[in-house]
Amino acid sequence: MISKQTIDEILLVTKIEEVVGDFVSLKKRGINWVGLCPFHNDKNPSMYVSPRLGIYKCFVCDSGGPAVHFLMEHEKITYPEALRYLAKKYNIAIEEEQEKSTEELAAETERDSLFILNAFAENFFINQLFNTDEGRAVGLSYFKERGYNEATIKKFRLGYCPENWDSFTQFALKNGYKTDFLLKTGLTKKSESDKLFDFYHGRVIFPIHNTIGKTAGFGGRILKKADKVAKYFNSPESEVYHKSDLLYGFYFAKKAIRSKDNVYLVEGYTDVISLSQAGIENVVASSGTALTEGQIKLLSSQTQNITVVYDGDVAGVKASLRGINMLLEAGLNVKVILLPDGEDPDSFARANRDSELFEYFEKNATDFLLFKAKVLSKEAGNDPMKRASMVTDIIGTIADVKDNIARAFYIKECAEMFQLSEDMLNAQLRKTVWKKINKGNEASGISTPPPSLHIHQPIESVRSNPLDLIEKNIILLILKYGIFEIYMEEANENGDVVLTKIRIDQYIFNEFEKEEIRFQSPLFQKIYEEYALIASEANDQDEIKKAFTLNPDREISDFATPYLIEADPTYSPDWEKRFETATNTINNSIQKLNNEVENMINMFKLRLLENHKQLLIKELKNPHPEDIQQQITTKLIIVLKHRQQIAELLGTVVTH
Ligand SMILES: [Zn+2]
Repeated sequence: MISKQTIDEILLVTKIEEVVGDFVSLKKRGINWVGLCPFHNDKNPSMYVSPRLGIYKCFVCDSGGPAVHFLMEHEKITYPEALRYLAKKYNIAIEEEQEKSTEELAAETERDSLFILNAFAENFFINQLFNTDEGRAVGLSYFKERGYNEATIKKFRLGYCPENWDSFTQFALKNGYKTDFLLKTGLTKKSESDKLFDFYHGRVIFPIHNTIGKTAGFGGRILKKADKVAKYFNSPESEVYHKSDLLYGFYFAKKAIRSKDNVYLVEGYTDVISLSQAGIENVVASSGTALTEGQIKLLSSQTQNITVVYDGDVAGVKASLRGINMLLEAGLNVKVILLPDGEDPDSFARANRDSELFEYFEKNATDFLLFKAKVLSKEAGNDPMKRASMVTDIIGTIADVKDNIARAFYIKECAEMFQLSEDMLNAQLRKTVWKKINKGNEASGISTPPPSLHIHQPIESVRSNPLDLIEKNIILLILKYGIFEIYMEEANENGDVVLTKIRIDQYIFNEFEKEEIRFQSPLFQKIYEEYALIASEANDQDEIKKAFTLNPDREISDFATPYLIEADPTYSPDWEKRFETATNTINNSIQKLNNEVENMINMFKLRLLENHKQLLIKELKNPHPEDIQQQITTKLIIVLKHRQQIAELLGTVVTH
């Protein structure tokens, strides 16, 4: 048991932002820090860390508490384990009140036992490597041949398991470790004749650590040439070893990843170790498997920038392109470094001076999408069928990119590279994005959003349209095009009709102000009010879209996101260009837009007046004193007149 005094000391020096910051990339906001909450699928930073209060708090999933609580939740560890972690982090010597009793030992969960056994094995392998003749002659000399210095070997806790079939297993049994656990960790195997033997015998050992540095499993590399045996053996899946949630080197790289705000992704253990020794410490390996969601979550907890380092062989590159799309889907920025032909990160790091390595990495990091386009384009050659499927492939990848501006950039680059028109690629992109959005909605049960603003509906149908739909169209109009300008006809002081420019949102505000109109839907009224605040700060329409997509009010962001995530299929981005170039000449499309905006507002007014009319007529049927009756009739006449005016503007006929 940890003494009360030690616990107090630990809690006193613990800084919540440092503890949480070891797992989540935090940004300062005022006196607090914010970051992506690791306890739910967080897309916008919803977790606040308050140094003053010493707590973290997520505003979405409601998790929160002090630093110890964070560790227990995040690492699925017990209270004493969390305290020990903090003691280690802050260099506090733990004062134990008494040794663990046998009952306490027995009560330790299986998970703990497996971790303890793994730590025991790790130390055994390290001891073998440095302190036995065989270890030094076989294991250590192998690592030295690879160019690893002693500091590196110690940092990564590399080891050696003797050639003899069962030295580790016997040693562990002698120390009281149970056969059951030896088998579960995969350190020991059972032969057909029921004999226990060391799984890694005759191999050098690469321990694999979890995010807090506990030994979760091992990789063992054979040194002898053997035909039928795999070069690497790995721990089997167990309570403590989930391959898909681990990245080799992550524990050692965490700090550097955060400070460089970038991570290099390589393939194998040796790549990680060589680059790290060369001074590139923000490096991890997926250990040969395709990246999993768990691994991507780990990476994105530290940085949004990932650089994938490829061996210089194109076949391998092509095979792994698929996995990269997942990184883009997760909203990460992906770059690629292609090493010279025949080199892997390990060999390349050994063959070059550190400064040359840095320079190569700096100079050769290229954008993933453009890299992929080049690889596929080269491969497709002039075969039209292959080129068509290549374009589909690339468009599919571009559709995964979250940022509208980045998408537009990629379309432009690819149009040039493939010698195709931007319009054609854009059309295909829209189709793909909508397919994806629809797919996502099917899964989550959200109804499919319309592919565009329904501003082309025939005016005759206005009376059959629910008010809600008209309101929605007005809201979408300002969210998507609010700061674009339309031309209005106005009479000046001399009574001449002149054209003046006005922003769409301003025009709508003016009309609402003038007529004292409110949205009937509380959600749309809320968006309308919020819009004014956001639009006054925004420099372009995308900023407005972003602000509503990321809006802290869930009701608002849930409504807006499906409509704003896509470039508008009908107008954008051409609109922007048209408005930039349209100075004196008004072309047809601008005229059309003007009409559409005006019509939409008028339809809205007409609908409101229609409702008003119905109310007044109903009221007239009730018994009233003569003067009140007269007032209602007067109001009704005004409403009908107003309604007639608007109907004329709309060019439609209303019946009284
Ligand atoms: Zn949360």
